[in-house]
Amino acid sequence: MDPAAERKMQFLFSLRSHGVTNKRVLTAMEKVDRGKYIRGTFEDRAYEDTPLPIACGQTISQPSIVALMTEALDVQPRSKVLEIGTGSGYQAAILSQLARRVYTVDRHSRLVKAARQVFEAEDISNIIAFTADGSRGLPEQAPFDRILLTAASEDPPGPLLAQLRIGGIMVLPVGQSDAVQTLVKVTKTEEGLDYQELRAVRFVPLLEGLGKENT
Ligand code: SAH
Repeated sequence: MDPAAERKMQFLFSLRSHGVTNKRVLTAMEKVDRGKYIRGTFEDRAYEDTPLPIACGQTISQPSIVALMTEALDVQPRSKVLEIGTGSGYQAAILSQLARRVYTVDRHSRLVKAARQVFEAEDISNIIAFTADGSRGLPEQAPFDRILLTAASEDPPGPLLAQLRIGGIMVLPVGQSDAVQTLVKVTKTEEGLDYQELRAVRFVPLLEGLGKENT
């Protein structure tokens, strides 16, 4: 087997061993090349199941966590999805395989620009990336069927809960930024909000306002 195929097999094996079973999610993870979303020193570690540093002091999440969060979000082919925290664009690319359209926002314009370039190079046309403070959501595009946060907040941000459609699902890390956080799945029903705690995670914090380079 050539090294690239072997790397891919190991990558998928590691996802399965972390309990990822959803076929659509595994197919999406197989199709999106994580190597395209990492530049420089860490490029050659793209297929390891580990978070890695990206520009602006941020991180690209660990693939098995990306897969588990995507599975929890239960994305449907007709779903309109909002992701807060574009980072490298990798998670958005995974979502774009499963959803009708993905809106993704980051507070760093530099990350948004770099991610847009990869989406274009990879021929991904159903992602719209914005530079914005995601804690306010994206009111002009609301409501969303699914909302995913890839930065941790102390509580689910009110504007995001408001922009979730009835029947919609939001997945987010909740907790203090310097402690272990809990991945929470919120389901919005006619009666109210349903909270389910999934597992311990560790994400960078959701910060207010735009990144320094934009101000
Ligand atoms: N999903 C990314 C990883 C995200 S790391 C990936 O697949 O690579 C978390 C990201 O959240 C960082 O890029 C950070 O800039 C962003 N972020 C933090 N607070 C934010 C906010 N209020 N609005 C938008 N993005 C925010």
